[in-house]
Amino acid sequence: MSRNSRPLLAGVAGAAALTLLVTGSPALGAPGSPDAPAYSTSLDRAQPQDDAFVSAAQQCSEAPRDLPIHQFTDHRELGIELDRIERVSDGRVDVEQVGRSNRGREIWSARVGTGPKAVLLTSEIHGNEKTGTDAILDLLHWAGTSESPKAKRWRENLTIVAIPKMNPDGAELDRRGNDMSWQEVVARYPQLRGSEPAWNYYTRSLQGDDYSQRPGFDTNRDYNPDLSYVPKAEDFPGSSAETGWYITPESKVVRDVYRGLSMEFGEVDTYVDLHHQGACYVMPDDPDEFVTLSISGKFVDDPAGTPGYEKYADDYDLDYSKRLNVAVYNALQGAANNRPLFGNVTLYPQDINLPGTGLGSFALNGSGTVLFEVRGQTQTLGQKYRAVLTRSVYIGLDGMLSAVASGRVNQLDPAAYDAIPPRGPNIGSADARSRSDEQRIQVLEN
Ligand SMILES: [Zn+2]
Repeated sequence: MSRNSRPLLAGVAGAAALTLLVTGSPALGAPGSPDAPAYSTSLDRAQPQDDAFVSAAQQCSEAPRDLPIHQFTDHRELGIELDRIERVSDGRVDVEQVGRSNRGREIWSARVGTGPKAVLLTSEIHGNEKTGTDAILDLLHWAGTSESPKAKRWRENLTIVAIPKMNPDGAELDRRGNDMSWQEVVARYPQLRGSEPAWNYYTRSLQGDDYSQRPGFDTNRDYNPDLSYVPKAEDFPGSSAETGWYITPESKVVRDVYRGLSMEFGEVDTYVDLHHQGACYVMPDDPDEFVTLSISGKFVDDPAGTPGYEKYADDYDLDYSKRLNVAVYNALQGAANNRPLFGNVTLYPQDINLPGTGLGSFALNGSGTVLFEVRGQTQTLGQKYRAVLTRSVYIGLDGMLSAVASGRVNQLDPAAYDAIPPRGPNIGSADARSRSDEQRIQVLEN
């Protein structure tokens, strides 16, 4: 996609452009180059620049700044690339427009496989967290075109449905929130007239973005485990410990796809949401090394002991989420034998209760759930480590999907999840950071 087609679009010298056209292959990047797609194992060898990626001896800052991001796939390129993958897959990948964002941009789903286990993948719910979209595109390309026994096993046992860049308005603005005012919400839901705006409505400055002229919502607090929920005035403004409302078109699209899969398959086996976290977290046992990726399978308090949530207790399956995360973890530890930075994986904080997130709501509906939080959002890292971080997401997804497809996931020990090291502290300098800043940063990354 952009990482492959970009040189062509940018007008690379004739001969090179001709080669691109003639080969027609997406795997155009030289081995190990940042242009190599995430399914290329050439990214699994240690690189000279890895020391700079890992070493926490250097300065690290969480202060927002303007950095290049053009290597990531933008919304227009996403449409082109999904279309290409659908064509080269010879009917194996089915791309569909499933809705539109608040500003009218297409939201697409791509489906591959005909197996009985449904796996839903989403990316860029936060528009400044972009590697997930690139990882999904490479995964779709591989799963749709490979003739390997592994790919066949995936296609026979899984139905993978991906919604890459589910918040395209936020992605085009390169910011966390979507692009939607409270007035627009009230126009759509007149019953909310006179209510206080939702607590996750941004009108201030955040992560270097000014929402005062162009407000928006954290779409990842707009989910509700009641998939038929209709917004009610008395439920606003709500809070982080409460459920959301499906007032944003973006979360509604994902809800609709999830509900459709639930009806088709009986349940959605697995739901994965791809994010980025702060750039400056270090390993708990080695403060000289940065965390590459944090993962998690726990987003809500146990519904069995939570008033109002008891009805979800029978379906909720934390142990299955733990097994899925162990599969992700094991795959990355395996890759660390050849490229150690893939081994710097930690557990995302477990003391959270966020039923308004997609992961929280779908976990309560019985899906196994996995959160990926790779290092650094665009306002702190830009595209600097795009290739290696995209590869880390790919490796984790690959290991997890293989374990689900083969059934091996059920032999994994949930206790191994609890043994994953917790995330160490954030050593970033955000200009004399106070403890409340620390908490604010934490709240704004999942
Ligand atoms: Zn996020």
